[in-house]
Amino acid sequence: MGDNKKKFQSALKVQQGIEQPSSVNPSLTDTLKGQKKIFFTLDEYVEGILKSNRTILSKAITLIESSLHEHQQLAQQIIARCLPYAGNSIRIGITGVPGVGKSTFIEALGKHLCNTGHKLAVLAIDPSSERSKGSILGDKTRMEELSVDANAFIRPSPSAGSLGGVARKTRETIVLCEAAGFDTIFVETVGVGQSETAVHAMVDFFLLLMLANAGDELQGIKRGIMEMADAIAINKADGENKKMATLAMSQYKNALHLFPPTDSGWIPEVACCSAYTREGIDNLWNIISDYQVFTKGNNYFNVKRQQQAKRIMLETVNDNIKDNFYNNKAVAAMIPKLQQAILDDKISSYVAAQQLLDVYFKDKKTEADDSCIS
Ligand code: GDP
Repeated sequence: MGDNKKKFQSALKVQQGIEQPSSVNPSLTDTLKGQKKIFFTLDEYVEGILKSNRTILSKAITLIESSLHEHQQLAQQIIARCLPYAGNSIRIGITGVPGVGKSTFIEALGKHLCNTGHKLAVLAIDPSSERSKGSILGDKTRMEELSVDANAFIRPSPSAGSLGGVARKTRETIVLCEAAGFDTIFVETVGVGQSETAVHAMVDFFLLLMLANAGDELQGIKRGIMEMADAIAINKADGENKKMATLAMSQYKNALHLFPPTDSGWIPEVACCSAYTREGIDNLWNIISDYQVFTKGNNYFNVKRQQQAKRIMLETVNDNIKDNFYNNKAVAAMIPKLQQAILDDKISSYVAAQQLLDVYFKDKKTEADDSCIS
């Protein structure tokens, strides 16, 4: 017993610890030197971005992704100041089901571009990433070479919010990346849901990655996604897979012929590649460059960007109105009661919807009247 007590007492003694190594990557501390403060002024943000300062660019993107009102306000000011310097890039959407080789492909094409003097920003849209804890681009080790390339900037998908919200943040991030001098922007998305449509609406070129040995149904690719593609790349065309890939290439070429002509006048291309051996990667870049020349020649490149800009305005209005409606206290309080009344057959869905709208507009009117009086 006495012995035990002794041990207990000795365990209470504070031992001299060993010095722990810093948990901060030393190279990151270097890049942060002189910029240790967390907040910058609007001018500092804008100047930093225009000088291609990655730390400031990253912090500005964090403001875009923040839900805090004052961060949002500052972010909007930064975007407005950067807009005149944005736009000078090719924006490329890259999609395909998980496992098709998107990140390997992005690494391969990205390295090809960085080695030839391009500056590449890789962004992602993955509305599910909050649930799956960043399934795409969340893990930078997936692009080991690219993530340490001085010409590349990789940013994982903003995780919070609806698809509309995530898409808006990515569009705004594109503006900042372009102002920071990135001439090529990749936007990665998983080819299984609605995020393709959102990505298609913000890029100049849409690339679909496919596999040779899986049917379309297996790959979960909907016809609509194939129709959006400006090129289809049959990935993993290496080793024993090569023959199958060549066969699949001609099948997809035939399939694309059956689709209606594209607005751009461009005939979608199908090509084989191996992100692993990097064979055919330069050819895919040639296809993208040809597309750029072709659509700049017939002015479709500009027309598409103008259409996207007009649509963004309306989408922003839609999103804001929707947010405002559902965040309205009176509306939020009524929704569960009306839902119950619908289940109890006391009211129809349409009448309930009208009641919500009536409450909302009445509340808005009171708000407006109050602000007139004060
Ligand atoms: P993602 O989920 O679409 O981003 O796919 P990944 O890039 O993570 O690739 C999934 C798996 O396929 C990984 O094991 C890769 O090494 C492999 N892979 C990717 N591209 C190729 C390729 O061109 N050839 C072969 N043989 N394997 C590949």
